[in-house]
Amino acid sequence: MAQMSSVYRRLEEGAKRLTPQRELIIKLFLDRPGQHLSAEEVHQLVRQEFRDVGMATVYRTVELLTKLDILRQIRFNDGRARYEINLEAANMHRHHHMVCVRCNRVEEFQEDLLDQLEDRLLRERGFRVADHELKFYGTCRQCDRKQSNMKPS
Ligand SMILES: [Zn+2]
Ligand SMILES: [Zn+2]
Ligand SMILES: [Zn+2]
Repeated sequence: MAQMSSVYRRLEEGAKRLTPQRELIIKLFLDRPGQHLSAEEVHQLVRQEFRDVGMATVYRTVELLTKLDILRQIRFNDGRARYEINLEAANMHRHHHMVCVRCNRVEEFQEDLLDQLEDRLLRERGFRVADHELKFYGTCRQCDRKQSNMKPS
């Protein structure tokens, strides 16, 4: 799998071995595209296969993989560190997130609408943007529907 080989490469560059736990954690993320798992959630999933892997090992592994740029850490409004697999090549554009403030669902979108704004920052402020991170907070479709169903029409 091409995705896996780029992950191996990054492990090799960091001179790290692909231990069974590391491999499993990477696979958990590869199998769940678009999900943003906390270390606790990763731990629960890992324990289904390796019953005696402790939380500390999971934390360490997740941190290592983040350092190697295999995982990416993000925080949404629950304040918890969450992780997602980083399949985008270095300095490629990242996706953006829409976070529902009612149910905490996180959706992704790939489209980038910021090129014009970045051009303007360069032109008007002399600021050359290398990257950006964007999160939208609001209500998802499902929660919005529930809300409008409750309103008397
Ligand atoms: Zn994401
Ligand atoms: Zn929602
Ligand atoms: Zn963007």
